[in-house]
Amino acid sequence: MPAQQPASHKTLGIIGGMSWESTQSYYRLINQGIKERLGGLHSAELLIHSIDLEPIATLQAQGEWEELGDIMASSGKRLQAGGADGILIATNTMHKVAEQVQAATNLPLIHIADVAAQAINKQGLKKVALLGTQFTMTEDFYKQRLIDAGLQVLIPDTEARKEVHRIIYEELCQGQLLDSSRQYYQQVIKELAAQGSEGVILGCTEIGLLISQADSPIPVFDTTAIHAAAAVEFLLGSTEFSSK
Ligand code: GLU
Repeated sequence: MPAQQPASHKTLGIIGGMSWESTQSYYRLINQGIKERLGGLHSAELLIHSIDLEPIATLQAQGEWEELGDIMASSGKRLQAGGADGILIATNTMHKVAEQVQAATNLPLIHIADVAAQAINKQGLKKVALLGTQFTMTEDFYKQRLIDAGLQVLIPDTEARKEVHRIIYEELCQGQLLDSSRQYYQQVIKELAAQGSEGVILGCTEIGLLISQADSPIPVFDTTAIHAAAAVEFLLGSTEFSSK
């Protein structure tokens, strides 16, 4: 019998492990998406390079972004050598070095901020709150892409940003889901909604483990789910992502 071509034609390379708690969500969501579309025993053609988060988080805190860029680019190249047709970086924060990954591989990269902006624009919202690590909430590499897509972006105040960031690294990335932290995030979202946010971006891939739509008075945009849905489209060849 001739070997059958997999129905999901493309292979996606995932740079994961940041944290592995959310890489699990990606793995499940992408496979569920393919199964929903193709049925039966179909699943996704994936390569996952799961990186040790401890040294990554240390380098982030030290501001060693050049070294982080090298680590991520080399991960991208390993996935490319393994046969990946496209790359997905399974964390918002590490998109700070997305351009280095693209330059090193010249493969299409599914940018998490771009697909989040598309999902929000589809709902017709203009002003959105952004929750994530300090890097994601305050730096241009992420926010500017949302602004370029026509969105206004609100972030929590200094004190709340610190706590939102702390909860991500000290709890969520370590698999700890505390009610007190859920309540804290709920309060932050409530305040940003009172300031005019029409939706909230869960701009860290672990926040969706803690917060769901039921916890928010405004629409929630979970970047893990949105990114995974975009990955499904890529695998099925229904959307092209830029390699530049
Ligand atoms: N997963 C998180 C994010 O989406 C934070 C961990 C990391 O630094 O990559 O930003």
